[in-house]
Amino acid sequence: MTKKQILNASGVDPNKILPLTYPWARQYYKTGVANNWVPEEVSMQLDVETWKSQGEKGLTEDERRMVLYNLGFFSTAESLTANNIVMAIYRHITNPECRQYLLRQAYEEAVHTDTFIYCCDTLGLQPDDIYTMYQTIPSIKEKDDFVVEMTKSVFDPGFETKTPEQIQRFVHDLVGYYVIMEGIFFYAGFAMMLSMLRRHKMVGVGEQFQFILRDETVHLAFGSELINTIAAENPEIWTDAFKTDITEKIKHGVELEKRYAYEALPKGIVGLTPQSIAEYLEHIADRRLERINLKPVYGTKNPFPWMSEIIDARKEKNFFETRVNEDKTGGQLEW
Ligand code: MN
Ligand code: FE
Repeated sequence: MTKKQILNASGVDPNKILPLTYPWARQYYKTGVANNWVPEEVSMQLDVETWKSQGEKGLTEDERRMVLYNLGFFSTAESLTANNIVMAIYRHITNPECRQYLLRQAYEEAVHTDTFIYCCDTLGLQPDDIYTMYQTIPSIKEKDDFVVEMTKSVFDPGFETKTPEQIQRFVHDLVGYYVIMEGIFFYAGFAMMLSMLRRHKMVGVGEQFQFILRDETVHLAFGSELINTIAAENPEIWTDAFKTDITEKIKHGVELEKRYAYEALPKGIVGLTPQSIAEYLEHIADRRLERINLKPVYGTKNPFPWMSEIIDARKEKNFFETRVNEDKTGGQLEW
C-alpha cells in the first residue's frame, strides 16, 4: 500500500481528498478563491483616452513600446503556463489536494489569458501584432524558448517519476515553470506596469497587472512548497550537483529577463531604468533561491521597495479600488 505522497502514490485513490496530507495545498486553494476577480471589473476608459491621445495627454514613444512589450509577452505566456499545468504537471502530481489547487491555478491562468483579450479589445490593438510578438521579438522568444526547452522532459508522453534521476528531472522542470517563468520572467513586466500605475498612466492595465501579480504570488508560493515537499520526500535527489544545476538555470533566467528589460525599455522612463530593473531581478532571484532552500547568489539590494509594499498591501483594506473580494487569507503568505 503506497503512502499518500506527492509523486508515485499510484496505490492511493486520487479521488479521496480527506483526510488531507498537505493542508497547505488546501489553504492555497482557499486563498485563490478568496482572490477571485475578472478583468471586466477594471474600467479601461482612461487607458483608451491615453492610448489614443498624442502629445502631453498621451504616452511617450518609450512608454508605448514598454506597454506593447508587456502585452505581447504576457498575452501568450499565460496560455503557455496553463498548458504546462494541465498537460504536463497534473498527470504526475497524483495527490488530490495538490490537484485541487492545480485546477484552481489553471482557472486563474484562463482569467489572465482573458485579461489580455480584454486589453486588446478595449485598446483596439491588432491581434496579429500582439500575439506574434513571442515569435518576432528576440528577447520574448528567448524567454519562451528557454522555458519550453527547460521543461520538455515532463511533456514527453512516456515520462515517469520512478527513479531518483526522473524525480530530479521533474523538480528541474517545476523550477522552470514556477520559479523561472512565474517567479522571474513575469517580474520585469510587473515592475514596469506598476511603475506606470504609480504615475497614474494606463491605470486600467496597471490594475489588471496588479491583480495578476496577486495571483502569481500564490502560484509561486504553491510551486515552491511543491518543490520543497518533493525534495523532502525524496532526499536522495537533493545533491550538490543538482543544486548547482538549478541555481545556474535560475541565473540564466535572470540574464534573459534583464535582456528583455533592456529591449523593452532601452532608454528608461521617468522613475525607471533598465539598470534598476536588472537590480530588482537579482534581488528577487535571491528570494526565490532561498525559498527553495538554495543559497542566494547576488546580494543585491531591492531598488524598488514600493514593489514589496504593493505585494504586502494585498492584506490591507481598500488597496484595490475596484470591487473585488478582499484577500482574506493573504496574511498567510510570507515574503
Ligand atoms: Mn498567470
Ligand atoms: Fe501563474
